[in-house]
Amino acid sequence: MKNENTHRFETKAIHSGYDPKKHLDSLTPPIYQTSTFTFSSIEQGARRFGGTEDGYIYSRLTNPTVTVLEERMAQLEEGEAALGFSSGMAAVSAVLMNVTKANDHILCSRGVYGCTFGLLQLLKEKYHIDYTLSDLSTAEEIRSHINENTTCIYIETPINPTMRLIDLQLLVSIAKEKGIKVVVDNTFSTPYLQKPLFLGCDIVVHSATKYIGGHGDVIGGIVVGEATTIEEIKKTTQKDIGGVISPFDAWLLIRGIKTLAVRMERHCENAEMIANRLINHAKVKSVYYPGHASHSDHDVMKKQMSKAGGLLSFELEGTYEDTVKVVNHLKLIKIAVSLGDAETLIQHPASMTHAVVPENIRKDMGISNEMLRLSVGLEAWEDIWGDIEQALDSI
Ligand SMILES: *Cc1c(COP(=O)(O)O)cnc(C)c1O
Repeated sequence: MKNENTHRFETKAIHSGYDPKKHLDSLTPPIYQTSTFTFSSIEQGARRFGGTEDGYIYSRLTNPTVTVLEERMAQLEEGEAALGFSSGMAAVSAVLMNVTKANDHILCSRGVYGCTFGLLQLLKEKYHIDYTLSDLSTAEEIRSHINENTTCIYIETPINPTMRLIDLQLLVSIAKEKGIKVVVDNTFSTPYLQKPLFLGCDIVVHSATKYIGGHGDVIGGIVVGEATTIEEIKKTTQKDIGGVISPFDAWLLIRGIKTLAVRMERHCENAEMIANRLINHAKVKSVYYPGHASHSDHDVMKKQMSKAGGLLSFELEGTYEDTVKVVNHLKLIKIAVSLGDAETLIQHPASMTHAVVPENIRKDMGISNEMLRLSVGLEAWEDIWGDIEQALDSI
């Protein structure tokens, strides 16, 4: 397609990376549900394997449906190239293995996704790759944790479930001085709200299971970055470990991405409505929502995100037992982990997403036993609030 790069986000989300003329004029990208591709001669097979002729070989390497997803995500994140994975964790592990070797050190934001924390532990125990968890909130703090062997700074912003943010520009300026790669898990923001590569970060990873897919019907992951880095990951950790996405799952993500901009607008609007009401409710002690002026990182939010996103956490004025009672009184809102779906979901981090994190580290991360995390969905906000209000009335 001509001038694809000049299109705006909403248009790219629908058109980029796909030309119907190359696919028998099919309006939507076809699902190439095939494991392998045929060669017309032994010589052609050799050329494809040798890299002197472009073309498909085998679906663990490349698949045309997956290629559409990858090109579209690269466009949306403003990166050179992207790779699809079978899950967010397949993407995270492929990246961490790419940017480290034995005896290296990873500087990581405190409060990373539970399984990412589990992976850091595994890398430490089995491959002597050390890590430090830090809030990374000031230049001094960032500098103080960088060692001779630090090869990567791995962060999430906003961080689950406290919704603390990390100043990407500050982080990048220090990492660049030291030649360290910055990897951002952009799952919570999506490129619609935040573009880490544009701000100088090196690699973006996604659990596409969340807002990218947006309908709670697929597990997938994406990595975006410079073409050379992506090629390296593709030929090593992706090809040889094998966490590739299936053509059908890639197709579901392509379909989800078409409405990403519209969905994110509504998620953000609804979250703001709910946050404002929770903040003013007598039975609510604290609300963690970066879109509100009371949040400690509100200024960072305004600097690097276009809107605050669809996630928030809160604690009740009451005991753990009160918290349990309120959650069990919800009718419309579903109790489930994951996020970014059309349905509003609530979860209890201490016993669910962050249960694998030892209690003392969890406390350091600011996760109390009374904290609840809400992924505000696409329903009418009045109905979401109505459900929360009647549940709060139970205590
Ligand atoms: C869900 C999630 C992951 C893991 O993704 P999967 O698709 O479940 O493997 C990683 N990071 C964040 C921030 C997540 O929310």
